[in-house]
Amino acid sequence: MKTCLYCQQRNADVRKECAGCATPLPAADADLQAHRVRRFQWFCLGLAVFCIAMFFWLPRNFY
Ligand SMILES: [Zn+2]
Repeated sequence: MKTCLYCQQRNADVRKECAGCATPLPAADADLQAHRVRRFQWFCLGLAVFCIAMFFWLPRNFY
């Protein structure tokens, strides 16, 4: 299944364009998509760790 980037309609893999909005579907394989998701999850984790570190590192009495 390929999900349309424009309208989120799910399309069969053989389709070259979306059944909902006729936008050309990307020829991305599932492996690349999984890699992107994993990289995004690591980015979010890193951002969370950074925020926690800043929470303890920055001074709390600004005023
Ligand atoms: Zn679409």
